[in-house]
Amino acid sequence: MIKKSNISIFVPHLGCPNQCSFCDQRAITGKQKAPDCDDVKQAIETALKSKNYKCELAFFGGSFTAIERSYMESLLKSAYPYVKSGEISGIRISTRPDCIDEEILSTLKSFGVTSIELGAQSMNNRVLELNRRGHTAQDVCKASKIIKEAGFELGLQMMTGLYGDTYENALLTATSFIEIGCKTVRIYPTVVLKNTYLESLMLSGDFKPWGVEESVELCAELYEMFEYAGIKVIRVGLHSSSGVKENAVGGAYHEAFGELVQSKIFLNKILKYQPGNYTVWINKKSLSKLNGQKKQNLKALSEMGYVIKTEFSEELKPNELRIN
Ligand code: SF4
Repeated sequence: MIKKSNISIFVPHLGCPNQCSFCDQRAITGKQKAPDCDDVKQAIETALKSKNYKCELAFFGGSFTAIERSYMESLLKSAYPYVKSGEISGIRISTRPDCIDEEILSTLKSFGVTSIELGAQSMNNRVLELNRRGHTAQDVCKASKIIKEAGFELGLQMMTGLYGDTYENALLTATSFIEIGCKTVRIYPTVVLKNTYLESLMLSGDFKPWGVEESVELCAELYEMFEYAGIKVIRVGLHSSSGVKENAVGGAYHEAFGELVQSKIFLNKILKYQPGNYTVWINKKSLSKLNGQKKQNLKALSEMGYVIKTEFSEELKPNELRIN
């Protein structure tokens, strides 16, 4: 089986005209150097030397198609020869739903872009407006439709716990993503960063951010919804970059958020059974997920009357669990 991996290049969105409630552009654009064509080539060459499997190049940073056009094309031009020669498997970009139209899609296609991710964040127009996103849920549907029709792989990104958001809204957003028929999703619980509108709302008492525990609960449910619908969840929780760590002042920030969600999913799967004695089969790599952080799952199960014997099976994937 060919293993897949990304070569990631961060493209800060210099001069973004938006003011999303959760984003501190000054921190992002001030600290990150914008990559040039040589940086792209170098990143690919380095990856080709060190990885013996096919890589995909990912330009991430949120608004790839909204950056200055000639700069965007110059970055793609540097990468395209590697796609043409088959040395890299494709190019992934992420952008805003209102920065997609037929013309830009044909440009992206001509430069070998294969996957497009949209930062939808929510499918509730009130939540989008309260968080100053500057686009609507209808923009997400429209952009998704033309992306799919043009033959790109579609990914959608959602946030949980934004200002004005509810548990039910998040489930409805996930339902809309499933109806749209995206191939992949990323789920980001809201983290309140310094110098953002969310921070001011939090300080004035108008916004109470969701904590780690309730966000894990919700994200575990969302993850299972997507998994059941055959949609791949490629990320849950923000990357634990130093920028986020230093600037987080509230919300659901945890360095191992994704692991907490996986543990919760394992726990929920076992809790579908009545208390009793069970043998649980997992892949060896998943032992910490089954046990939970600081063995929380094992303690909770034992208190509820479950006696668990763990067995390993290499046939099971790291997120799979079988109960006898
Ligand atoms: S999150 Fe919003 S404000 Fe921040 S760069 Fe993206 S579009 Fe601009």
